[in-house]
Amino acid sequence: MKPLGPIPPHFPAQGADLLIAGRPARAWAQEHGTPLFVYDAAVVRARVAQLRAALPPAMRLHYAVKANPFGPLLALLAGLVDGFDIASAGELALITAQGIDPARAGFAGPGKRDAEIAAAIAAGVTLHCESAREVERALALGEAVGRRPALAVRVNPDFDLRGSGMKMGGGARPFGVDAEQVPPLARRIVASGAEWRGFHIFAGSQALDAQAVIATQAATLDLALRLAHEAQVPLPALNLGGGFGIPYFPGDMPLDLDAVGAALAQRLAEHGPALHGTRLTVELGRYLVGEAGVYLARVVERKESRGEVFLVTDGGLHHQLAASGNFGTVVRRNYPLALANRMDAPADEVASVVGCLCTPLDRLADRAALPKGAEGDVVAVCCAGAYGATASPAAFLGHGPAVEILAENGLPSAG
Ligand SMILES: *Cc1c(COP(=O)(O)O)cnc(C)c1O
Repeated sequence: MKPLGPIPPHFPAQGADLLIAGRPARAWAQEHGTPLFVYDAAVVRARVAQLRAALPPAMRLHYAVKANPFGPLLALLAGLVDGFDIASAGELALITAQGIDPARAGFAGPGKRDAEIAAAIAAGVTLHCESAREVERALALGEAVGRRPALAVRVNPDFDLRGSGMKMGGGARPFGVDAEQVPPLARRIVASGAEWRGFHIFAGSQALDAQAVIATQAATLDLALRLAHEAQVPLPALNLGGGFGIPYFPGDMPLDLDAVGAALAQRLAEHGPALHGTRLTVELGRYLVGEAGVYLARVVERKESRGEVFLVTDGGLHHQLAASGNFGTVVRRNYPLALANRMDAPADEVASVVGCLCTPLDRLADRAALPKGAEGDVVAVCCAGAYGATASPAAFLGHGPAVEILAENGLPSAG
């Protein structure tokens, strides 16, 4: 038997039902069909409020669109966060489709094509340049489109975020400019007459250890100030990365956000005037939306094979690659999962919950203790709000995409 991850407290049980945005999961499934993603707007709002309360007031909050680019969610976040981090011209189009001003966006990511760079510059997006070559291309494309580009340098730091699920800095990376090569490049940008937007330093993702986040933020501030000093350029803006994690797995404890906020406030105070005039940003994806989302699938069949029980659902890794353990995890562990219409029944059976794809990888829960499940039951996978629908191979095997809805106080808003 393998334990399941923790169901977030904002999805309580009421009798037999798991409630999502105050409404039984089976009512959502009945109304919209399965497989279905439900994102609870109230949970996103509460998370932003928590961040605003914990982080120093000067800290700006960005949303990393790749975590979940669902239109109604972007529209909700437009009124809650200070800016957006995009990673492609496609994501630029998604935010502008929601009426979001591209001047609020930063564009990071390796392999930006000329057309993407040109579109971003024309729209007033800040480019987070990943190489010296990209800087030269951006300067040339700025001339071509007749607009002064706003350029920041993405720095590949000489450290990474300890304990992070996905390391994005330290060592040799396709992301960012190696720290030791940054000062001349920063000087080059300033001398070119481009709008200088400072540094972007992203050291890793999915960290639950507050001390690791605190140490990384301190090292990031030090590195940015040192690079600006060495380059003899001002530091108008610094994107400190993010990496705040959420509890997916058994034993995971939530990040101590208050500790992170207090330490950051103290570091800013210690640096004093050195950071006056620097616009500071943290960029978060999963921390803003991950726990707000639930993936609902229906049990098509209950099946026994050589003494093991399988609940075969109409969902699977084509929407939930991460829950299946195939999106950046080394050891497969169970996500938080429940039989959403049997919350009051004892977990007295060991069963595996699988998807409808013909691959042994398609497993939403592996040998978990669950109530005795049956055909028609509704399976809820929690922590499904980030890296779900668009980070999964929806075209694989032709079942098609899942329905997505944003729930506002128990009412869906248009998808
Ligand atoms: C993916 C990414 C993020 C978001 O990561 P989360 O773990 O979802 O918070 C932020 N910044 C950059 C540069 C990224 O590539």
